[in-house]
Amino acid sequence: MVLTDNHGRAINYLRLAVTDRCNLRCFYCMPEEGIDWLSRNDLMTYEEMMRACSLLVKMGIQKIRITGGEPFVRKDLMLLLKGISELSGLQELTVTTNGVVTAPLVPELKKLGIRSVNLSLDTLDRNRFFAITHRDELPAVMETMEQLLLHDMEVKINAVVMEGKNTEDIISLAELTKNLPVSVRFIEEMSFNGGDKHYSNLTWDHVRILETIKDRFPAIEKLKDPAYSTSYNYKIPGHKGSVGIIAAYTRSFCGTCNRIRITPQGILKTCLYDAGVFNVKDMMRLHRSNEELAAAFSDALGKRAKDGWEAEQKRNLLTGTHESMAAIGG
Ligand code: SAM
Ligand code: SF4
Repeated sequence: MVLTDNHGRAINYLRLAVTDRCNLRCFYCMPEEGIDWLSRNDLMTYEEMMRACSLLVKMGIQKIRITGGEPFVRKDLMLLLKGISELSGLQELTVTTNGVVTAPLVPELKKLGIRSVNLSLDTLDRNRFFAITHRDELPAVMETMEQLLLHDMEVKINAVVMEGKNTEDIISLAELTKNLPVSVRFIEEMSFNGGDKHYSNLTWDHVRILETIKDRFPAIEKLKDPAYSTSYNYKIPGHKGSVGIIAAYTRSFCGTCNRIRITPQGILKTCLYDAGVFNVKDMMRLHRSNEELAAAFSDALGKRAKDGWEAEQKRNLLTGTHESMAAIGG
């Protein structure tokens, strides 16, 4: 079955955020003191998540990414991953993690059939890592990267580029691709910092990031971007890995967006920038049938914003708040 939205875009990818809690405090995502954490009752249970995933896979979702907050801080996550990995019709299960507690779990992830993991890593410098995340966990993250590579997993490194924080790391992160078969993706910073501090205008957009890399590696070559890719992909000749740039703020990829999100409290977002369409968990707790849920998903996709700009404009009119990415699932 193919699920499509009102703009004719195929929807085959679900990003499911399993918690808003985290063991890091990346300043671009949440304040140092954390956010107002959801209470246990506000969180979707694993049973509710399984029901939503199972229904959505029947409706046409082929790929599910587990994210958060930090997914691995939620108790018994492996049980949920196992359940989802067994859904018939699902083609790919992946995870986005900060890598702080992930290393020992890599063999189990591999056994579940997970082939690719996104690892967030903004700097290779321990002091700058601490300044960005407020935690001294760089060695644990590097251990996760090592374990993933040892287990032949595809590793995509996500690095948010931030003025005054890690622009000196752009080259060293790109250089990681020389000897390691990793894809290092530089992400434009977005305004989902969970605080009331004003998000200053984007100073490092995808063009500036690429220019910086080109300055050091003038022979860099453009790769063909895979279908539905959110990144512009490149290869430095002779390097084992690749480099990508995600124009998350500029939003140049909305035209082929194939994804929906469910937040830790069960809110369906048909765009990262929208305010949420309906609460899947609340419907389940009101004993709605699968047919009613399926109708609600279809209805939501029938009213999907054309792009992130339109979705954000509508949201600002409604709320005007700054969410934390941990409460959405990046
Ligand atoms: N905790 C996990 C992690 O950090 O990988 C998963 C959740 S995190 C919200 C998912 C991704 O969102 C991370 O790669 C993170 O760098 C990115 N992210 C968070 N806040 C962001 C922001 N304000 N702008 C751009 N990317 C952001
Ligand atoms: Fe935690 Fe990920 Fe947000 Fe960093 S980006 S605070 S690791 S949820």
